[in-house]
Amino acid sequence: MTVQETGPLTTESGAPVADNQNSETAGLGGPVLVQSQHLLEKLAHFNRERIPERVVHARGAGAYGTFTLTHDVSRWTRAAFLSEVGKQTEMFLRLSTVAGNLGSADAVRDPRGFALEFSTEDGNYDLVGNNTPVFFIKGAVKFPDFIHTQKRDPYTGSQEAANVWDFWGLSPESTHQVAWLFSDRGIPASYRHLSGYGSHTYQWGNEAGEVFWVKYHFKTDQGIRNLTTEEAVRLSGVDPDSHQRDLREAIERGEFPSWTVQIQVMPAAEAATYRFNPFDLTKVWPHADYPPVEIGRLELNRNPENVFAEVEQSVFSPAHFVPGIGPSPDRMLQGRLFAYGDAHRYRVGANADHLPVNRPHAARARTHGRDGHLYDGRHGGSKNYEPNGFGGPFETGRPLWEALPLTGTTQYSAAPSHAEDNDFVQAGNLYRLLDEDAKSRLIENLAGFIAKASRDDIVERAVNNFRQADTDYGKRLDAAVQALRA
Ligand code: NDP
Repeated sequence: MTVQETGPLTTESGAPVADNQNSETAGLGGPVLVQSQHLLEKLAHFNRERIPERVVHARGAGAYGTFTLTHDVSRWTRAAFLSEVGKQTEMFLRLSTVAGNLGSADAVRDPRGFALEFSTEDGNYDLVGNNTPVFFIKGAVKFPDFIHTQKRDPYTGSQEAANVWDFWGLSPESTHQVAWLFSDRGIPASYRHLSGYGSHTYQWGNEAGEVFWVKYHFKTDQGIRNLTTEEAVRLSGVDPDSHQRDLREAIERGEFPSWTVQIQVMPAAEAATYRFNPFDLTKVWPHADYPPVEIGRLELNRNPENVFAEVEQSVFSPAHFVPGIGPSPDRMLQGRLFAYGDAHRYRVGANADHLPVNRPHAARARTHGRDGHLYDGRHGGSKNYEPNGFGGPFETGRPLWEALPLTGTTQYSAAPSHAEDNDFVQAGNLYRLLDEDAKSRLIENLAGFIAKASRDDIVERAVNNFRQADTDYGKRLDAAVQALRA
């Protein structure tokens, strides 16, 4: 429990406050004086307590913890924090829902964000994943449109099933992730009982400069637990903060949640000839092709002291790489490399990366960037340009990641690049993996929402995507939707 600080109450400038219950007035029954500095300052500060909420992932909770490397990975990456078995790295994890506003309920059908910041000796390394290994779309240019369909309609001011299914029906690549969302795993029981995925493919490069493509899996050690739609509806009303409370209280009890970290590794040369585009975020790499390999353990063991300072102001960017790790050509990732930092500069400010929760803790940031809102003067009087004859920070000469060989011309293309770039095969595999009861619940959940879409053509396109994933899937879904619309 936080210790209460004692001493005189003060103004923001530190002057003692005589009376925090009454303002200075003109006489006994007269109006308040403009010189009531404490009152004016108090009201003005209150008016500025909110910063723009995140446009997605607004609702979340976070905790500090430790990553421990348990297996040697030096043949794949030269990342210093992954250099030695047993090495521990401090980290911060923020878990979130996606579509809801800051004050929305936790127990909803929505993906969960799984954003990590590792405080390494080479600077912060961030991963911005989800509790699903795939995503709704393949390229960032569709992201704002997609999120508009998940949020409030400009006319009705509500989320509209017609908009949601219109977009998904016209975006067949969403069929795989949509099934995840409406399956049993669409409403996790808590932030502790879900697995995280880095989702994107990343480049790892070893000391010799050899390149590997890597996917991350964070498998919950608490076991996967989910809520039924009915349980979630009830819990959302009774305890809207259920996930946030569960995480904080578990850590307070000393029940530290943990995740076993695995990776899938593809040698770089295999990417061009693999069956499908390995950088397509709507697809997993089947375990039979690239078996997951255990590399470490994450444990959350400390709650933030101040939720606004440490969770609301925390920022994560997939562009925060360290030597030995870099981006892949994944087109969603490429957009996110820009969008996250841009969101932070808008939402928190130009110096967001230097707030206590975000600044590098095991490294020192030495830049020629200066000033801006709430600059803390961390550079002192050192020169702010380069090259200079006064000394100061120097370049290392070695890029963080390895060069990517390329051929061809610039272009816009949706043409498949690999033989099996099909949007429905893996969506069907997920359906076929479920047992009979899980299939029935998936159909019921999907049908319940599709049936709310107002137009026949929207409903038909939505059902048709699942029909193409698996004939039985489409037949049962069609029947369930028709029964609800009859
Ligand atoms: P595999 O049999 O090799 O892997 C299946 C995976 O599915 C397991 O990792 C398991 O993870 C997970 N799984 C089990 N039950 C469910 C469920 N109800 N909902 C979601 N995931 C579940 O097959 P493939 O690699 O060929 O994948 C088949 C399908 O499994 C994919 O289309 C994908 O939707 C899903 N999947 C694949 C993953 C991958 O990285 N290949 C990861 C997760 C899911 P767990 O230990 O969590 O139960």
